[in-house]
Amino acid sequence: MINQFLSPFFSLRDDQWGGSDEKRFRFLKETVLTVKKAIPENTPLLVKLNTNDHTPKEGVVPELAAKYAQWLDELGIDAIEVSSGTGFYSPMNMCRGDVPVAEFAAPLSWWMKPLAKMALKCWVGNFELEEAYHLDTAKKIKPSIGNTALCLVGGIRSKARMEEILNNGQADFLSMSRPFIREPTIVKKMREGKADKVACESCYKCLAAPGAEIPVKCYNKGFPSK
Ligand code: SF4
Repeated sequence: MINQFLSPFFSLRDDQWGGSDEKRFRFLKETVLTVKKAIPENTPLLVKLNTNDHTPKEGVVPELAAKYAQWLDELGIDAIEVSSGTGFYSPMNMCRGDVPVAEFAAPLSWWMKPLAKMALKCWVGNFELEEAYHLDTAKKIKPSIGNTALCLVGGIRSKARMEEILNNGQADFLSMSRPFIREPTIVKKMREGKADKVACESCYKCLAAPGAEIPVKCYNKGFPSK
């Protein structure tokens, strides 16, 4: 919802909430100011910011996101996590890797399965899984945000790349999601020198688990048979 206010593609408003970048930013600004008042002092306030809508006409793009990030910094938030993608236009941009077509279709009725499989196959290969695929965007945003920390998410998988990004000052924190589903102790393992990359293979079968009403865990070898 917040992104729909921020995006020139989604927001067609021409009132105090839309029509210019400043007005489109107002909803997020009011949200941040309201949350700041409500949370205890010294509680960090982080914003996960979409930096690319991937919409047919220009919406949020990295340059506009950098402007929004600068305004967020001026509001005094503590960190910005650089992310991208929209649910309708680029769902597999947000979680690049394999598209688990069979697992996504598994809970559907027999007549919906083939239709869903055809639709889901359109998602395959749309976005390449490169390690740290938001890094180029992060480099555009970092100079605009002063002392606000930058958290980088997206395909970060090896200790060497993590150290390189942090040592180069390109990010202050690194975020991961699915690797923790497979290996909740991966950070400890890396710190102790017992792993130099995550075991998660980005197959995203865990992503299909809620739709199949089974617990979210690693299903790399496939869903359990009923
Ligand atoms: S099912 Fe396992 S290997 Fe596949 S994306 Fe999820 S955690 Fe990673």
